Amino acid sequence: MDLVSYPAFSRVAITGGTHGNELSGVYIVREMQRQNVAQVGSVSISPILVNLPAIDACRRYIEKDLNRCFTDALLSTPLTDSSPYELRRAHELNSQLGPKGSPQAMDLVCDLHNTTSNMGLCFIFDFDCIPSTLPNTYRVIYVDTSKSESYSVDSVAKHGFAIEVGPQPHGVLRADIYNMMKEAVDHTVDWLNKFNAGTIFEGGNLEVFVKEKSVDYPRNPETSELTAAIHPQLQDNDFKLLQRGDPIFMSFTGETVNYEGEELYPFFINECAYYEKKIAFHLAKKKMLTIPPISLKKD
Ligand SMILES: [Zn+2]
Repeated sequence: MDLVSYPAFSRVAITGGTHGNELSGVYIVREMQRQNVAQVGSVSISPILVNLPAIDACRRYIEKDLNRCFTDALLSTPLTDSSPYELRRAHELNSQLGPKGSPQAMDLVCDLHNTTSNMGLCFIFDFDCIPSTLPNTYRVIYVDTSKSESYSVDSVAKHGFAIEVGPQPHGVLRADIYNMMKEAVDHTVDWLNKFNAGTIFEGGNLEVFVKEKSVDYPRNPETSELTAAIHPQLQDNDFKLLQRGDPIFMSFTGETVNYEGEELYPFFINECAYYEKKIAFHLAKKKMLTIPPISLKKD
């Protein structure tokens, strides 16, 4: 594959607390702020707490999920007196870190998240820079979407991805999860410095999970209340192939609901924040992406 070149990653934001109760990112960013981290080698770093009122309240968000507010459509909607807080904050962040799609935008936003699901360390991305050199212990979730429709905070930068680590209950800090995330952040900053110094990263095949669909909990059609929970045999088995006949839910009267679709990989199983989104788990296909060799564009 042909070599792909990018200009240096000079301006980078590490963002935490986009969801206010996902505490690994909140405390990693706070610690970077406390240590006045501003420059690491060739990379200027801005550690930013994204949703302060939600962090103070230890909630995912105050009025609206901030990490769904960064589509071109929402960013171009004029604000009014009744606009939710998070939409105002999205516009503010777009001015600060973007504007999305403009030459002034940050070179990279790396956004830090936790999940209550047993997903380990995942990179969620729709660009092709960092993952080329990821160690095999990381999982990569590839979001096949256009930049304009991408709704996450990292989409305002030229390149962006989220680091998602779990399991960790929201509002709780676990040192093992904190360390996994911190290592991934350090690895990223290290990669950027090597890239800026002219290292050519060889491409190759990268195994990625691409979301196919979401599955909701069984619900009472009249009240919408759950009638079943995630089955114990599915719980904590993120990224393990789900086959026809495998148990997925257990009803409160004791019946097992079995899976009936095609073979796919479940992830975000029983994520706390997704009950309101009517998602019990996502299902993904495993695919191979071919990553080109990547190098610094010399001007
Ligand atoms: Zn999150």
